[in-house]
This record gives sequence, structure tokens and C-alpha cells, in this order.
Amino acid sequence: MTRQELKGVSVSPGVGIGAAFVVVRSGHEAIARRVLPASQVAEAMERFETARIRAIEALQRVQSATAREFGIQDAAIYGAQVAVLKDPDALRLIRRLMRDERLAPEFAIQQLINKFEKLFDGLEGGAMKNWAADLRDPWQVVLRELDLEDGSALGMPSGAGIILVAEELTPSLVTRSHSHPVRGIVCARGGRFSHGAVLARSFAIPAVIGVENATDRVRHGEPVIVFGEEGRVLAGVDAEQQVQALTLAEERKEVRRAVAGLAREPGRTADGTRIEVLANLESPRDLELFDPEAAEGVGLFRTEFLFMERAEFPSEREQCEIYESVLQRFPGRPVVFRTLDVGGDKRLRYFRTPHESNPAMGWRGLRVSLQWRDLFLVQLRALAVARRSGDARVLLPMVSALEELREVQALVEQLYADSNGSLQRLPLGVMIEVPAAAMALRDLARECDFFSVGTNDLVQYLYAVDRDNPWVSELYQPYHPAHLRVLRAIARAGERLALPTSVCGEMAGHAAGTLFLAGAGFRSLSVAGPFVAEAKALLRTADIGALRQLAVRAAACATAREAQGLLEDAAAAHWKEMVRRSGR
Ligand code: PEP
Ligand code: MG
Repeated sequence: MTRQELKGVSVSPGVGIGAAFVVVRSGHEAIARRVLPASQVAEAMERFETARIRAIEALQRVQSATAREFGIQDAAIYGAQVAVLKDPDALRLIRRLMRDERLAPEFAIQQLINKFEKLFDGLEGGAMKNWAADLRDPWQVVLRELDLEDGSALGMPSGAGIILVAEELTPSLVTRSHSHPVRGIVCARGGRFSHGAVLARSFAIPAVIGVENATDRVRHGEPVIVFGEEGRVLAGVDAEQQVQALTLAEERKEVRRAVAGLAREPGRTADGTRIEVLANLESPRDLELFDPEAAEGVGLFRTEFLFMERAEFPSEREQCEIYESVLQRFPGRPVVFRTLDVGGDKRLRYFRTPHESNPAMGWRGLRVSLQWRDLFLVQLRALAVARRSGDARVLLPMVSALEELREVQALVEQLYADSNGSLQRLPLGVMIEVPAAAMALRDLARECDFFSVGTNDLVQYLYAVDRDNPWVSELYQPYHPAHLRVLRAIARAGERLALPTSVCGEMAGHAAGTLFLAGAGFRSLSVAGPFVAEAKALLRTADIGALRQLAVRAAACATAREAQGLLEDAAAAHWKEMVRRSGR
């Protein structure tokens, strides 16, 4: 085994050790490039058959519904898709790959899709491309069925720890890893502030991106160490290196344990300025990863992940039960539920959304909810009912104009009117993540109850830099002075307008960001659950006067490099002090 060191960019801290599990990307999902043990081949072939039959049945259902509504002619396309799934040549190829080469079914199907694409790629003309799509799409339905059936097309082992090596850090890759013993993630692509990265931090999985050709350079099964903080990966390590890494991981955990001692105290700076520290959550399962008593509430519950993990849209009752289960863990403390923020890189498997050439600027967040009104109303009603169990609040994503807020107000008014007084009013907040909203704070403040600043998207839209696009990730700079100035202005406006204003973007949970935001004037920060204790401990090492000066100096810098250097030096000094005080 040859050892190699791979360099990348830090996405989520921690040290992870495990066997490499290499996945490659198919048309719609990540799938394992994996050869099955001989003993699993028969079972895998059966899994394939079941999924294929389910896909045929699903297509036939759509065919009958379409025939009823639009006529037989329109429905014929689905008949053709069914025929594709019965094509003897295609079936022969897939079965042979599974039986003789022992490929997992997902990977065997992908080979077939690749074959179509190669065949049609060389040919000119839109009709040819459409033909390739006609042959490929039905097989994507089978892939989806395989995926739904076992909850993970990755087929990860359930025992020992693994390091997931993939081309791209997508939200679905991370959500699906969550129920498996994933000790680290290594990817070639993905943005540091992409939703995949957000999730990796939230699940406390050490992760490194930007490792070029990661899936070719790391061999399936070889031992790998991920150093999250340093953005470094060691592949093909020996036993001694694994022991050293384990020791380092243990030391870091010790520091975390030591700071956890103070975590249940309210957040404040050394001189006693109150700064509440809340948690960001994606699922009730996140509550297993940190002490919920440490958080002064939930500043952001990204409800879309509940919807993304499932096979169909959750009913009002199901949603309500989930919301109530979270509220019960935070008695007497606020829980801010953000309404469905799908679109962009967050897709629902059971809803086809239109193809968009620029999805981040397209049909996303509140824009989707305002069109899917029936589904939006289900969510609002579930939240209003859940408010009986605690301090539930509602946060609207991607608001860009006051009119959108007014539309939501009208919907909730109707909801209350229809309930004959049985539903309680929900405090309604607006995410400040589109520059237009940041420029309209006064107007929005008159008609909502609170603001929450989403720095992840604010940076994306302020700089016109796609947060998921590795080609421009150098330009994605949360510590750029222009962004820091906007943040100071928002904090000041929030104070002037006397509207509670929190920050829930990722920078709130990075030491440099925590210190800057407190200095800029924010008195409420919401960070990934596992970082709540650290953020509190860090704030206790600082005086608000010094932080104010630090924020002014950082915002006055001319370049991101200067501002970031200043803030990171300050963060390193406070971090050292925090470790010293924790007795390590
Ligand atoms: C943000 O944009 O900063 C935010 C918190 O929301 P998300 O990362 O889910 O887009
Ligand atoms: Mg956002």
C-alpha cells in the first residue's frame, strides 16, 4: 500500500479515520463503484428486479392517469418508457454485469446509461440527444426505486467506520451518510458554504473538499485519515499513523468536552454583554450530536431536509409531530422553523422541478412555497398547531420583496380565520439573505417580527458567486470587507428598528465570524449544534469593547485577505485563551 498525502480545503473540522468508500456520480445520484462479494450477487439481482418492476408499475400508473386527463396520445410516451425497461438487450447487459462482474445494480445500470450517452454523443442534432434521454430516463426511475428501497444506493457497510470519497459534496450524499458510520468525507468538488458543507458541519463529520480526482486517487477500502481543520487527507496509512491520528482526535475531543462544562450558562462576553447562542438544526436526529440544554433555543431549523429524506411529501400530522418533538426538547425556549427552502442544490425526489439554467437565482425558497400554496398551507398549519407545544416561530427563506411577505401574511390570516380561533398566531420572521432585502430592512421590519441573517446566501448574491461552484469558490469570501460592512449596517438597523436580529449563516459558528458578529452588534447567533459550546466559551474570553473595535477595523480593510487575516489572528488568540482556561 502506498501512502499519499492529498491537499484540499477545510470544510468541517475534526479528525476522521476509516476505510475509503469510493462513490461516483450517476445521472442523478451518487452510487458506489463497488464490486459485490460473491455471496451478495443473488440478493442484488433480486433487488434489481424488484426495483425494475416497481418502476414499470409507477410508469404505468402515470400512463393511465395521463390517458384519463389528456388522452391516449399524450400517454403513449410512458408506454414507450415501459418498453425501454423491458428491452431484452439492455436487460442482458445489466444482468451480465451483475452476475459476471459482480457489479452493484446501481453501477450496472449506470454502465448502460453511459453506453447510450457515448453512442449518441458522437451524433449531431437535438433529436438524437432527446433519443438518448428517452432511453436513459426510465432507468433513472429504476435507480430512484433502488434508492428508496434501502434508503441508500450507496450500500455502505454498517459496521466499521468509513471515509466517503466522492466527486461532489452534495446535500443528498451527506444526508444519506448520516445513518452510517461515516467518519470523514473527501470530495473533489463542492463549495465551502454549499448545503453539503453545512450538513457535514452539522453532523460533525470531518470533511475536506477540492481534492482533485479524489475518486481516482484513493482506492476503495484503503485506510484513510481526514484532517478536517487542515484540509489534509492521508490515504494508504499504516497502523502507527492511525494511532497518532486517533490520539490527536482524542485531544481535540478533550478540549470540546472541557468547554462543554460552561455550555449551559447563558451566552455572554467577558464583561457581561449578553449574546444568546442558539443552534441550527436540520433534523431531530441532530439533537443526538450535542447537548440541547446548551443551546438557548433553535435559531434555524432547516425543514427542507425532513422533506428531502423522505419518499413523499409529509402530511400535516406527520410534520406537526416532528415539529412538536423538537419543541419539547426546548421548553421555554424559541424554535425558529424555516419554511421549505428547496430549489437550487436542494431537490425533492418526489417533485419534478423545471430545468433551470441558473437555479440559485431561480425557483427557490419562498418562491416555490408561494406557488405550491396547498403544500405551503399544510406546513403553516402544522407549525401553527405545533405552537401549542412550545415557542414555535416561522422564518421565510429567500424573501426579496415586501410583497412576498404580504402574500404570506394574507395566507396566514386566512388560516387563522378558518380555524375559528383554534390556532395561535406564529411570530413571522424574514431571512435577510438577498441583498434587496438587506436594503429594505425598514419596510420589512414594519410587517414582520424578527430578522435572521443568512450569510451563506448573502455572500453568494452580494458577489454574484455561486456558493456551490468550485470554479469561483476563491471569490466566495464571507470575510470580504464589503460583506462585513453590510453586516454592520444590518446589525445597526436591527437595533435602530428595535427588531430582534440574529445571524444563522455558517460564519456565526466559525471563531473569526463569532467574534466579528458580536463586535458588529448582533446579540443573537445561531450556529451548528456541535459548535454552540465553543462559541459560548470563545465569547467569554472577549470584552465587547475590544470586539467592537475589531469589527470596525475588519470592515475598514480594503481586501478580504487583510480582513480575514485580522479576524483569524484574533480568533487564534482567543482560541488559545479558551483552551488555557478550559485547563487543557
Ligand atoms: C444562509 O443562506 O445563510 C442560510 C442560513 O441558509 P442556507 O444555508 O440553508 O441557504
Ligand atoms: Mg440561505
